[in-house]
Amino acid sequence: MRQYAPDMTTSFSNLQLAPALARAVAEMGYESMTPIQAQAIPVVLTGQDVMGAAQTGTGKTAAFSLPLLQRLLKHENSSTSPARHPVRALVLLPTRELADQVAQQIKQYAVHTNLRSAVVFGGMDMKPQTIELKKGVEVLVATPGRLLDHIEAKNVVLNQVEYVVLDEADRMLDIGFLPDLQRILSHLPKTRTTLLFSATFSTEIKRLAGSYLQNPVTIEVARPNETAATITQQFYSVSVDDKYNALRHLIKANGMKQAFVFCNSKLGCARLARSLERDGFRTSALHGDKSQDERLKALEGFKQGEVDLLVCTDVAARGLDIKDVPAVFNFDIPFNAEDYVHRIGRTGRAGALGHAISFVSGSDQRLVGDIEKLLKTKITLETVSVEQDRSRERREPRNDSRESRGGDRGERSESSSRPRDSALSRDSRPREQDSRRSREVGYVPAPRIKNDPFFDKPYEAPVRSAEAAAPAAPDPLRKSANIKPKRVMAALFKSTT
Ligand code: AMP
Repeated sequence: MRQYAPDMTTSFSNLQLAPALARAVAEMGYESMTPIQAQAIPVVLTGQDVMGAAQTGTGKTAAFSLPLLQRLLKHENSSTSPARHPVRALVLLPTRELADQVAQQIKQYAVHTNLRSAVVFGGMDMKPQTIELKKGVEVLVATPGRLLDHIEAKNVVLNQVEYVVLDEADRMLDIGFLPDLQRILSHLPKTRTTLLFSATFSTEIKRLAGSYLQNPVTIEVARPNETAATITQQFYSVSVDDKYNALRHLIKANGMKQAFVFCNSKLGCARLARSLERDGFRTSALHGDKSQDERLKALEGFKQGEVDLLVCTDVAARGLDIKDVPAVFNFDIPFNAEDYVHRIGRTGRAGALGHAISFVSGSDQRLVGDIEKLLKTKITLETVSVEQDRSRERREPRNDSRESRGGDRGERSESSSRPRDSALSRDSRPREQDSRRSREVGYVPAPRIKNDPFFDKPYEAPVRSAEAAAPAAPDPLRKSANIKPKRVMAALFKSTT
């Protein structure tokens, strides 16, 4: 566990946390508070409302959950009666992955207490969630849509809630959760503490805070849209056709073991993952067409080190906490400059060093200009010699990433057990680039061994059962019953002014 430099932090021992919480913090390996923790924990311990601007990866989950757990300890009891375990704290997040992640952290912090916690989100069977809710939990982590389902089904009562956390509030508004939030908040007691965390304090966020927070203490640890200083950012000028080889070259040249690779579309994401997988990289794709189970499996595989490359769309960009991801690639420059900040925030977390590499093709200049404006910095484009790497490959077979990490890890993926045939590797590159390369650099690709139907047919989203597909992920590209179009949100805001 990397620690913050002493000048940025304060010791946890200054907080006088209850022994059960202090023990959990020590077991997590934290020595010093992160800046958001140093500022927010003492305030939340006093029960005041907080409006916090903090990037993901700054330690904000502990910043709100440790003091909340401390304040809830007075309710701690070992009774088996559900009535003795009403929901006291509600934590709302925009996506299933974030909800799952925050819930896991809270469980770790509360492990030596008798406080119970649970998480509910869509895309999963409601029954096991209902059983857990009916047993009683003090801390409930939820996505808005599924929580409303449980409220309507009378599986949960929220009239004893003392604390509400609106985490990633800007994202919740972005995907149109405002009406759902308003409905949920109407079920809660008026006297309560409300904590709102957001990457930015937009006008909409300030309005939300104005309606639901009382005299909040504002905490801002990083200027909005500021990237962590621990991340090295590089931009390479690469033609669309060379991006794939540039990616492979840079992964190898930098000795990278794991990376997130971001694409702008589900189609691009699926195809790139497929190519990398066929080229021997242990790869998983994470995008809106994946079922909840597939997404959680992909994330878990990455966390366990069974997956090297997680190829994803922006659905995975916000808040996912995977420790020590050494690198993030922007295979495509994001359409929205703010997404650049969120994407590269997957690396360089909690003080660790990170590397963000972006590929800039001809038509991306305007998008790079937007990023420059947002970061208030001049971006210098570098070049990468992919040809050099290809010629080396022709001489020697490609390294098996598994071998280079010291052996088999048990379960082999179909792709990683495939022979490293260099012709097969070339065959697996996106098709159009081979013909263009032979024109540009005189490189004559090996003949394609056989057609891969994956690249020959138009992209189709995987067919899922109606049950699995119904509660769609709160991916901005997907509209579920719980996701209202932005226009509705804007209209609602107007009506409140
Ligand atoms: P978060 O911003 O809450 O998603 O946290 C990002 C990561 O920082 C998580 O992996 C936490 O376990 C880790 N973390 C949180 N607080 C600390 C701390 N005080 N020292 C070191 N790591 C921390």
